[in-house]
Amino acid sequence: MVVNRVCGMCQGGCQVNVTVEDGKIVKVEPDKDSPKGRLCIRGALTPQLLYSEDRLTYPLIREGKRGEGRFRRATWDEAYEYAAELIRKTMDKYGERAMASYQGRGVLGMPVGRILSNNQKPCLMKRLGSPNDFNAASICNMASSTVTPVTTSGLNTRMMVQDIPNSDYIFSWGKNPVTDDGPQMAIKSIKAAKERGAKLVVIDPRKNGIGEMADLWVPVIPGADGALALAMLKLIIDSERYDKEFVRDYTRGFEDFKTYLGTLSMEQLSKWCGVSEEMIAQVTDIFCSTEKISLVAYTGLEYQLSAIQNNRAIFTLWAITGKLDVEGGIYLNCQNVPTFSPKELPTENKPIGLDEFPLFYKFIGGGQFCRFPRAVLEDDPYAVRGLILAGGSPVLTFPDSKKWREVYEKLECFIVSDRYPTEDSRYADVVFPACTVFETYKPVMGADGKITLIEPVIEPVGESRDDVLILSGIAKKLGVGDDYPGSEEELKEWLCQMIPPYAGDFATGGKQAPRVYQKYKTGGLRADGQPGFPTPSGKFEICSVLLEENGFTPYPEYRDIRSIPELNRPEFPFTMTTGARSMHRMGVFGANLPGVAKAEPYPYMDLDPEDAEELGIKDGDWAKVTTPFGTGTFKTRVCGMARHCIHIPHGGGSEYMPEAWRIGNVNELTSLDYNDPITGFVTMKSVPCRVEKSEMTMEKSI
Ligand code: SF4
Repeated sequence: MVVNRVCGMCQGGCQVNVTVEDGKIVKVEPDKDSPKGRLCIRGALTPQLLYSEDRLTYPLIREGKRGEGRFRRATWDEAYEYAAELIRKTMDKYGERAMASYQGRGVLGMPVGRILSNNQKPCLMKRLGSPNDFNAASICNMASSTVTPVTTSGLNTRMMVQDIPNSDYIFSWGKNPVTDDGPQMAIKSIKAAKERGAKLVVIDPRKNGIGEMADLWVPVIPGADGALALAMLKLIIDSERYDKEFVRDYTRGFEDFKTYLGTLSMEQLSKWCGVSEEMIAQVTDIFCSTEKISLVAYTGLEYQLSAIQNNRAIFTLWAITGKLDVEGGIYLNCQNVPTFSPKELPTENKPIGLDEFPLFYKFIGGGQFCRFPRAVLEDDPYAVRGLILAGGSPVLTFPDSKKWREVYEKLECFIVSDRYPTEDSRYADVVFPACTVFETYKPVMGADGKITLIEPVIEPVGESRDDVLILSGIAKKLGVGDDYPGSEEELKEWLCQMIPPYAGDFATGGKQAPRVYQKYKTGGLRADGQPGFPTPSGKFEICSVLLEENGFTPYPEYRDIRSIPELNRPEFPFTMTTGARSMHRMGVFGANLPGVAKAEPYPYMDLDPEDAEELGIKDGDWAKVTTPFGTGTFKTRVCGMARHCIHIPHGGGSEYMPEAWRIGNVNELTSLDYNDPITGFVTMKSVPCRVEKSEMTMEKSI
């Protein structure tokens, strides 16, 4: 039997044909008849993923010490009862807010967020009286998709279409769609644009991947994108190559920003970003040569000391040179958008991280999970001792793995729901076996923009259940889950009720209306129909009202990681970047599959050929990397990199992974303590480090 459906293992939305034999999935292939018919290695490895020997197939209760990984099989009722008892005890001892939940990307896009984090109805934590419900927004796309664009244009990135098919130039800035993107959609349209003559400029410390396709590769020091953007803005403003009418009529804070730029020298900016003044001038000339330039960027620019401001500088570049809402630039795909209303800060029962990052709360209505360790280890701002973790692995995906292990040791209630044992689950009190999207119902968006519910293709493997049903089972034991679904049938109905009515046009299959450009001139962007942008000032905010009101510098101000004395030490002459996505894995998810291990056998350290020669390190050698926070050993891959910069992928460090990944955990070398002050995002893209040749071999390391 062949079933046609959306893959659903990530949000790529690929249309696939799934072959089922004797009730088991044996093959997943792209649906060649669909425009969204494509398949990445994750999708292709679905059979391995489903039927791996490692798969969790029944509930477990801990028998050994935390971290030992010794469990006994439990019945569902016993596991639910025990989980509920631990939650009750923790709340009785420390108060309701001592419980927290975290939902990671490992839930594979399942609607579990509707139980753990829910802005419409009280989520599980809120029902229990705790404000501490967290999800991957604390470390993922929230900053780039919302905070940056809203504090400049008032829009979010879903409303900003990069018009690659009509661009003269494509600027890929801090993103590598060749190595990172599962569906490879961006790369297909970049290749098509190049074939018709468009040029590609890649601004990134890494050359491998999209940098190799570039007409111009600009090797920027990781974390210093803001310095490069400011240097370009300085040249553009000094030479008056900006759109004067746009600046006069539609921007806020230009003069203050110009004054700030006057305090910076090109020499200093060039030194910070590692790009020569000649190359900065060359990129700026290209940038000013046409309005038709699209921007390929995502979260890669976010994990830096002045992440939001760096990105705001980049958006300002596009805005003041006439590239917003024009053909071939950034098309604003929206009409009459209301101005963003910040969420009100609670005065009591505050989530952790709120006092330090109040503006982040105003955007997402929740706290910042990067401060969870302080709450557990230091009772700051109050004691937290319980965690429900669904499809996530903070110990390997957040900086400072050692600290997370200490956190897990100290928890008094730790409940994990996942498809595989993880490094985190080794510390858990109760582990629940969750299923994948092929084994349950899931709302997905089809090619026509319509959200539908897809049916399970196979019965759940073993006793595994949908994450929603698992959490619902715990909630019911606690007496707060009467309206949550208790069976597959109830789950189906519950999800159907949540699917929003289809707003598209069925007759046109959800096709877009004809484009209208420069809507800021005609009142097409603002809810009140007035010209301008849907921001508090009605202008494109170079100086943001929201930032100003919340005590931040309103214009894009750059802060370099090397301005922190304890990090700017001569023994750390290199800069490490990490956290990039892999097209083979979803964070830590999948690294223990044989197919993935074969595709990505090592967490390689990428090193520039000239640096390699100076350090006496050859391709394939092991190298020791030391940062102010830790040391690790990685296999070297000599390839195009910015000078004195290295790249190491994240995701290693689990006892359940192949040996090279088990020892190669870059998050032993990163810190939770240096954050973007606006969002609390961690600075894993720019970590000062030292690189030395290691005599270690893989055999010695095991
Ligand atoms: S990118 Fe891969 S995992 Fe994601 S939906 Fe497409 S095939 Fe599935």
